[in-house]
Amino acid sequence: MTLNAGAINHSFTNRSRRAFIINLFCLVGVLFTAPLGVLSLFKGNLLVGSSLLTIATIYTLNHLYLRSTRNYLFSANVILYPLYALMLYLVYSGGVNGTGHVWIYCIPPVSLFLHGLKRGLLEVFLFICALALILFYMDSPFNDLDYHPDLKSRIIYSFILIAFLSTIYEYISSRFNQSLQELSAKLELAATTDPLTGLLNRRGMEQQLEQQAWDAPAVLLMDVDHFKRINDEFGHEYGDEYLQRVAYSLEGLLSKYSCLISRWGGEEFMVVLEHPASMKDVAELLRRGIASAVLTTSLGANISTTISIGVTEAKVGESVIRALGRADKALYEAKDNGRNKVVIAQKESP
Ligand code: GH3
Ligand code: MG
Ligand code: MG
Repeated sequence: MTLNAGAINHSFTNRSRRAFIINLFCLVGVLFTAPLGVLSLFKGNLLVGSSLLTIATIYTLNHLYLRSTRNYLFSANVILYPLYALMLYLVYSGGVNGTGHVWIYCIPPVSLFLHGLKRGLLEVFLFICALALILFYMDSPFNDLDYHPDLKSRIIYSFILIAFLSTIYEYISSRFNQSLQELSAKLELAATTDPLTGLLNRRGMEQQLEQQAWDAPAVLLMDVDHFKRINDEFGHEYGDEYLQRVAYSLEGLLSKYSCLISRWGGEEFMVVLEHPASMKDVAELLRRGIASAVLTTSLGANISTTISIGVTEAKVGESVIRALGRADKALYEAKDNGRNKVVIAQKESP
């Protein structure tokens, strides 16, 4: 959509919000400045008219620039600096029949929003100084009406009031936005992580695979052998603890490989290795590593078992999820062959 052009993604980040506001401002800016510019030209106010039309052109180009480069910091400046200049000029010249000052109240919200609290407030402060200078110390050659002294002070007071309210609003909204982002990051983590082992869950693995886009990785699907016996013999809590132990061992054994590790289901784990050349050695390493992992209960009993592993290599262009079917068959074969085995599924010919 036009208003989201140049945003990194459409989530509620400061960057995306600012890109949205810049686009909105460009659009509204063009809709306001273009007709007012034409009107001013018709009324014979050549300078105001041509300034407004120049701004309309700049805003159109700015939107196109943001759309193609996503450089929102530069685009924000392109919005703000001509806007400051235009507003000060409108106050100085009186605008159309002395109405120039009525537009300046858009400055604080836009400035604070696009440049943030610190820089935005500094710029608003400098704008107030420039405003006071123009109103109280500069005689405009354009303005026959001349501002009434009371109007001058009211313009400054009301501008300060709007700046104050905009600051409060921006402070609250940026705090709210920050906690929203933190919450969203937490939810994202919870949705993609297995709470028992801390490994990726199925969704997390699928998401990571999409991001990695590895050419032809190896898929290792493993299942704990006779796990039900551990639950039956030692209780569900020790079953859980044993799964944690397996996850911990997998992470340790795979620490030097470029891979993704997930808890794929109950007592099933899946590893995706970026480079398939080492898949057989890695599978053997894992099988032996888990077979030697021991969990000691509070009563001093030792819990240990083995894993069976089905391994395959994804074909170029084949998704891991498709290749998983072969790994699954190989895993069944490993179980049928007596468990504690690695079975490599052959890559089917294309
Ligand atoms: P096999 O060697 O054929 O794989 O035998 P198995 O006993 O491991 O397989 P089975 O599928 O019969 O049993 C798996 C058990 O794993 C059943 C289920 O209760 C248990 N399980 C699944 N998820 C969890 C979990 O999160 N915690 C615990 N403690 N047990 C779980
Ligand atoms: Mg199972
Ligand atoms: Mg099992």
